[in-house]
Amino acid sequence: MIDISFEINGRKVNPNNIGDELEAAVLSGVADSIKSDIGNITCPEHGQRPKITIKGRNIDNLSFDVSGCCDKLIEKVDSKLK
Ligand SMILES: [Zn+2]
Repeated sequence: MIDISFEINGRKVNPNNIGDELEAAVLSGVADSIKSDIGNITCPEHGQRPKITIKGRNIDNLSFDVSGCCDKLIEKVDSKLK
């Protein structure tokens, strides 16, 4: 499974205990759509999975960071997410 984490306004959050049902639903929805977009992508060279951080100043203003073992993997993920 792809590693997805969340950071809202500089704070790491977990949708499972964010304490706000609406925000939790939004974050889970974003995570689900990323998962379905990139699937079980792995690096063709290293076999590693990407790490995605969904972040923003608030829930209405989210973007994501992709990190991984090398640029090749990151590019592969980026192209799927566009
Ligand atoms: Zn790699």
